[in-house]
Amino acid sequence: MSYFQREFVANSAAVRVRFGPGVRHEIGAEIERLGAKRALILSTPQQAETALAFAEDVGARAAGVFTRATMHTPVSVTEEALNHVAEVGADCVVAVGGGSTTGLGKAIAYRTDLPQIVVPTTYAGSEATPILGQTEKRQKVTLKDPKVQPEVILYDAELVATLPVPMTVTSALNAIAHAAEGLYAQDRNPLSTALAIEGMRAFATALPRVIDAPGDLDARGETLYGAWLCGTVLGQVGMALHHKLCHTLGGSFDLPHAETHAIVLPHAIAYNAAAVPDLLAPVAQVFGGDAPGAALHDYATSSGAPLRLADIGMAEDDLDRAADLAVKNAYWNPAPIERDRIAGLLQAAFHGRAPGT
Ligand code: NAD
Repeated sequence: MSYFQREFVANSAAVRVRFGPGVRHEIGAEIERLGAKRALILSTPQQAETALAFAEDVGARAAGVFTRATMHTPVSVTEEALNHVAEVGADCVVAVGGGSTTGLGKAIAYRTDLPQIVVPTTYAGSEATPILGQTEKRQKVTLKDPKVQPEVILYDAELVATLPVPMTVTSALNAIAHAAEGLYAQDRNPLSTALAIEGMRAFATALPRVIDAPGDLDARGETLYGAWLCGTVLGQVGMALHHKLCHTLGGSFDLPHAETHAIVLPHAIAYNAAAVPDLLAPVAQVFGGDAPGAALHDYATSSGAPLRLADIGMAEDDLDRAADLAVKNAYWNPAPIERDRIAGLLQAAFHGRAPGT
């Protein structure tokens, strides 16, 4: 059915986005624009050098640096960071990094309502959403709150150019997953669909160029543009089977975030393809081929993505429990959630078979 024969609602967040190689050097001006004077700069330990360079760049407006951001946003780390916020009297946060660092900035904003500037260095897309996932007592709980939505995003291709190629590929598939599932979201709208298709197109065009030449700032810029669009889709509409499976595999079996998305995506999309062929047709159009799941599998294979859950820490003995967990709580999905089919999907993803084989 066309969009214009039914009612739709479109919510867009008021986010300021600046884009361009070297735009990170404008952070000081952006802090000032927010009316802030004391920024706390956040990173992971691996990106501490970048955070320190930011502090130097920002000068007197940098109140401190906290470099202990970590995967899955543990509440204990957030509490440490909040102590730091109080100690230095920070009035805004600047997160430089991937989804883990952005997550810490969001966790601080959720508790303090401090404004956030995010400088993303992966394609995870968290900077464009009001969603926060945090972990306490080994349980990851996700919430949605406007307070969590970052106010300013600076996309600087020079920073993402240091992302190693294997992480580049898995992170790109993580972004594409937001767009692909956004196509069939119950609350989709013409804008979210257009963003999803254009976001996927940007990755289909630019990722092969980045793999050939990781320092190509034009290609890196186009992939960052794709990440922005795909992240915006994630922020605007609900996700389904694919994100649920990845959440289960990441949360209960400690599998790495982006790699899990990369491996599961072709299988989850193939699972849903027969239920919503028209809505998923753009996936095959963008990535080439007749079937959307197979098109994504071919794209992942030719990009050198990991294909087997067996290779990223999943134990074959745990597949049954994973299938049980994935069907435990009811959630909306375009195709019915059937335990046997889910178990078959997980088997195929475990062994790296093409979807549906
Ligand atoms: P990440 O942030 O954990 O980064 C992985 C590693 O790569 C880190 O050590 C990081 O420092 C390093 N790194 C990042 N960019 C780099 C670069 N350009 N050069 C060199 N090293 C770099 O990984 P991620 O996949 O971006 O984020 C995953 C986390 O984000 C998960 O916890 C996930 O749940 C969350 N996430 C949340 C949302 C949301 O909307 N809330 C969306 C997507 C992902």
